[in-house]
Amino acid sequence: MSSTATQSKSQAHAVSSKGMLIGGQWVDSASGARITVENPAKRTPVAEVPRANAADVDRAVAAAAKAQVDWRKVPARERGKVLLKIAEALQARAEDIARTISLETGNALRTQARGEANLTADIFRYFGGLGGELKGETIPLGENVLSYTRREPLGVVGAVIPWNAPVMLGALKIAPALCAGNTMVMKAAEDAPLGVLLMAEICQEFLPPGVLNVLTGYGEECGGALINHPGIAKLSFTGSTEVGKIVMRAAAERIVPVSLELGGKSPSIVYPDADEDWAVDGIIAAMRFTRQSQSCTAGSRLFLHEDIFDSFLGKLEKKTTALKIGDPLDEKTDIGTIINNKQFTKVCKYVDEGLKRTDAKLVFGGLPPKSGPLSEGYFAIPTVFADRSNDWRLAREEIFGPVLVAIRWSDEAEAIRMANDSHYGLAAYVWTHDIGRGLRAAHAVESGWVQVNQGLGQVPGMSYGGFKQSGIGREFSLEGMLDSFTQRKNVTVNLTV
Ligand code: NAD
Repeated sequence: MSSTATQSKSQAHAVSSKGMLIGGQWVDSASGARITVENPAKRTPVAEVPRANAADVDRAVAAAAKAQVDWRKVPARERGKVLLKIAEALQARAEDIARTISLETGNALRTQARGEANLTADIFRYFGGLGGELKGETIPLGENVLSYTRREPLGVVGAVIPWNAPVMLGALKIAPALCAGNTMVMKAAEDAPLGVLLMAEICQEFLPPGVLNVLTGYGEECGGALINHPGIAKLSFTGSTEVGKIVMRAAAERIVPVSLELGGKSPSIVYPDADEDWAVDGIIAAMRFTRQSQSCTAGSRLFLHEDIFDSFLGKLEKKTTALKIGDPLDEKTDIGTIINNKQFTKVCKYVDEGLKRTDAKLVFGGLPPKSGPLSEGYFAIPTVFADRSNDWRLAREEIFGPVLVAIRWSDEAEAIRMANDSHYGLAAYVWTHDIGRGLRAAHAVESGWVQVNQGLGQVPGMSYGGFKQSGIGREFSLEGMLDSFTQRKNVTVNLTV
């Protein structure tokens, strides 16, 4: 580890420096190469992790395949009990996990990272209780035949995750896959591997060697080797739609099942009766401004009825600009930083385009300051543009930053048509006191998850996943575990012999 990284690492809380997890051992990459992890709030290195390549993927898949032989035979409820122990251990270390997430992602500790750490423990708790649900059926073929189905694990799952909620998204794959009797090789995102390694360290205290293997490495070099590895029986990916297509092609090549949780450009439809503070708070929550809108479910297209367009935006400005942007680890901070320079530059380009267009109106926000404390990190400013149509690039592309586009509507059918005019279909939000109207809109919107009068995060147990190019498959629930991480076998026995 370089001396700069070692010095800066003292700022970190329980940041793992042990290496990657393969076969129960903490190892370096085969090549010895490393990746520097940066604190995006200060643009300083905080740790180094191994840079895994195809040779490391081979080692990890071999370890997972070896562990699979015994892990699948552990009774499902016993596997569940292991997950419950992990849940309690994760809960006990929640503050360390939260601080690590905050340090490496720039997500504010109070508003985001603590919630993510607690939800991570809860995900293990939820799936830990579901071992007994991995049951099959009997088919009534008569007195002389016994015909039944078994839910069997798929084998070694290859999982690839992004950086925006790294630990929670990792837990969402590990817990259901392991509960169902699979073993796993997971590649953490290169920008945020530390929290995932800490979670893996806690999991490893309770798991046999090789059941969970976690690699740190770059997308194509490590992730590419993993998704194309012949020893992988199932691909589970969370990330961009662009990379999701690469993963799906790799799955097609070997006919392995694939789950994809991809991008979004989610609509929020506000009816004229919702020009009130609670709805404004809901829009701020749905837009995920306090996680810099680096969320797949961000409600980044705001369809406001023309009667309330200006007054609603006025309230939104007042409440959003009161949020405190600053050091993610400071308890007073509401909004942290963008993850890295690449994303920061991308977000700034979108804002710049909005500012230059004479036919778009800047409601509030703008480009980040070039001097002062906020210029030290990748701090972006919540920004709202109005008066352009749903066809504008800023209303169509996933910006993954705090840039909201407000669009006027007068006719309900037109609002729903615009909401559905997207190749994405992940989340949606509807705001009205008229519950009948709200539910009709919820049913008409082409999204996998619609919230009426709230903009909250996912809860274990709900069906969560995308329509259209936002993904296929579900993992967040009992059905998600059964459909995504098991395969059914029928056994038919002639009882007359
Ligand atoms: P990304 O697609 O760039 O990267 C995701 C992961 O894929 C990373 O670990 C990366 O290293 C890896 N990767 C990149 N290229 C690869 C390749 N050729 N082969 C194999 N792996 C490769 O996404 P990101 O920038 O890390 O995350 C942001 C995206 O994730 C957004 O589009 C967001 O909407 C999406 N996301 C979706 C959900 C969901 O639940 N639907 C949740 C979180 C994030």
